[in-house]
Amino acid sequence: MDFRLSEEQEALRSSVREFAREVVAPVIGEHYEKHTFPYEVVRQMGKMGLFGLPFAEEHGGMGGDYFALCLALEELARVDSSVAITLEAAVSLGAMPIYRFGTDEQKAQWLPRLLSGEALAAFGLTEPGTGSDAGGTQTRAVLDGDEWVINGSKAFITNSGTDITALVTVTAVTGTRPDGSKELSTIIVPSGTPGFTVAPAYSKVGWNASDTHELTFDDCRVPAANLLGERGRGFAQFLRILDEGRIAIAALAVGLAQGCVDESIKYAKERQAFGQPIGNYQAIQFKIADMEMKAHTARLAYYDAAARMLDGEPFKRQAAIAKLHASTVAVDNAREATQIHGGYGFMNEYPVARFWRDSKILEIGEGTSEVQRMIIARDLGM
Ligand SMILES: Cc1cc2nc3c(=O)[nH]c(=O)nc-3n(C[C@H](O)[C@H](O)[C@H](O)COP(=O)(O)OP(=O)(O)OC[C@H]3O[C@@H](n4cnc5c(N)ncnc54)[C@H](O)[C@@H]3O)c2cc1C
Repeated sequence: MDFRLSEEQEALRSSVREFAREVVAPVIGEHYEKHTFPYEVVRQMGKMGLFGLPFAEEHGGMGGDYFALCLALEELARVDSSVAITLEAAVSLGAMPIYRFGTDEQKAQWLPRLLSGEALAAFGLTEPGTGSDAGGTQTRAVLDGDEWVINGSKAFITNSGTDITALVTVTAVTGTRPDGSKELSTIIVPSGTPGFTVAPAYSKVGWNASDTHELTFDDCRVPAANLLGERGRGFAQFLRILDEGRIAIAALAVGLAQGCVDESIKYAKERQAFGQPIGNYQAIQFKIADMEMKAHTARLAYYDAAARMLDGEPFKRQAAIAKLHASTVAVDNAREATQIHGGYGFMNEYPVARFWRDSKILEIGEGTSEVQRMIIARDLGM
């Protein structure tokens, strides 16, 4: 058992770290404040190959693996989570369903642009009336000749309304099974399809430089060939995508937690109180030591989940543990980092203010903490 990174992994980590510090950090505060999408940063991430990291070269990918994606997410989130979630959603929720379940034609049509970062794809599972209980999907798709006719709406969909969004994969009820349960399938809906409307961006608490919209489908027609994988496999498909996605979100949460440590050390060495830097006080040192311990153990949890996944072993429980633990740690560290910054921690110009606002969603998105506990308990036979 060896969790030390290979030379190649270290090289990837340091190049993303440098990119985050030199390219993302100087511009992200303004995007966050103005709620604008960082197109130029995304373009450069595309040039670096980040959108193609876990995909085979034959499809235009970088030939890396899911762990490489996680390392990149951690380093980006160490500086900013809006940029990190843009990459996470584009790769793990957007391109991955097409890569895993798409036909050769669908892969040839979409993957080159998605894997180069020239275009983004979104994943539409959550609806206004149902999130955790994704089986409660109400959106319907009916086959009419050689077209699917889709009606319904999706809520909180990341990357769904940017100028470079190419498509959203939508889960929809396509029939009833013999046992009376819903038959769910996944369908590709290209941006700009008549009947597909993207609402104005939500006003969010955090992730302000990331793109999130409600989507509606009103007699929206797409070719029958836009079915992703087999009809009726929608439930199994999104479970697989979400299991993997939890490892990626855990990595992102670890990045945020580590960013809180970085910023706290820097500030504690500079800020003076009672005649000396606050970092000289053991109360502050202990807070930072606890924050480092939490970031480190959360990192080990996602490394373990990713290693199992890449070895082809069951990883559902470990992914849920990693996501649950890392998101809890991210919220804890953001709270403590803000405390260490005193009043300045409450000012938006300091990165820790962003970390605080961006941390809470990690306990909600891609399965709430309660859902992670349900998954772990179920896997323990309860
Ligand atoms: C910024 C943002 C981006 C997002 N991006 C996407 C995206 O790209 N694609 C997408 O499909 N979705 C996306 N989501 C949706 C996200 O995954 C859901 O919000 C999340 O899964 C929770 O669903 P919900 O909001 O409907 O909450 P609910 O499911 O209504 O849950 C409300 C509360 O009840 C609890 N709860 C529910 N059931 C149980 C139970 N059985 N036992 C105990 N407690 C329970 C939950 O844990 C939670 O605390 C995004 C959300 C946000 C905010």
